[in-house]
Amino acid sequence: MLTRPSESRPLGKSGISVSPLAWGMWRFKGDDVLAARALVESALDSGITLFDTADIYGADGAGFGTAEALLGRVLADAPELRARMVLATKGGIVPGVPYDSSPSYLESALDASLRRLGVDQVDLWQIHRPDLLAHPQETARTLERMVQSGKVRAIGVSNFTASQVSALVAFLSVPLASIQPEFSALRTAPLWDGVVDQAMAHDLAVLAWSPLGGGRLGAADGPVGGLLAAQGRKFGVSSSAAAYSWLMEHPATVIPIVGSQTPARIREACDAFKVEWTRAEWYAVLEASIGERLP
Ligand code: NAP
Repeated sequence: MLTRPSESRPLGKSGISVSPLAWGMWRFKGDDVLAARALVESALDSGITLFDTADIYGADGAGFGTAEALLGRVLADAPELRARMVLATKGGIVPGVPYDSSPSYLESALDASLRRLGVDQVDLWQIHRPDLLAHPQETARTLERMVQSGKVRAIGVSNFTASQVSALVAFLSVPLASIQPEFSALRTAPLWDGVVDQAMAHDLAVLAWSPLGGGRLGAADGPVGGLLAAQGRKFGVSSSAAAYSWLMEHPATVIPIVGSQTPARIREACDAFKVEWTRAEWYAVLEASIGERLP
């Protein structure tokens, strides 16, 4: 059997400890604060401490900032929840632009996030997508100022290539804590493009977005879904739990961001800890995903 993930893990070199699973708020919406609070509590009560949102969440419907604002309303209703979570958000996507990592924009985006969330500080602030028109040296100074201001405890990036991470890290005087690639048994690019190797080499936490491929791995469809469902059955858990555990088995101690907005499914995510993999089983899922036998 491969190594089991530990109970909690460091968020890179940030000094912050987080749960092996995170909960994400891309799909967090609505006007019902009690229902929203129930989702937050089901994640916390399942042992999930890392909460991932972004300023843009909601922009595809309810409006830019609405997911953060909803969490802000939950925290206003139940302020004691804030201390139980490691709160992560992101900025840098601007609808219609589409990316802006200029110092003035990022600083204003952070301030707007803090206002919507109703907090003085977030634990992790991430650049959501790379701005190709921003020099990494200038971006590094902006991120350092965010940490120095006390508004941010740790910094991360999302959707950066390995070389974009290297360019940024070359100018940073504070540790980059995390990266956030799309990563699932259906989207294995980070295994091949240097992203997870770099994370291990530099001790960056890997937060995997859309760990069920946006929900497709919640069902037993297709060759990958079939293998995950079979693995889940062996341990008495769902295919989605097997899908999270497949990611968590990677030595980069990948943290899947659970995207479900259903309390029972959020709780069920922790069944991932029950699943074990042999090398052969793990590689069979990878081969099914890429559609070929490895040599
Ligand atoms: P996902 O886990 O791949 O998909 C979640 C979706 O699958 C939900 O709509 C959920 O529906 C559905 N689903 C169907 N069957 C399920 C099952 N058995 N168990 C659980 N869910 C099932 O994750 P995601 O929502 O696409 O992304 C997760 C998080 O990643 C986001 O919240 C966000 O924090 C982050 N993210 C980051 C980026 C980025 O660019 N950095 C982009 C996208 C997402 P129900 O709600 O009905 O359960």
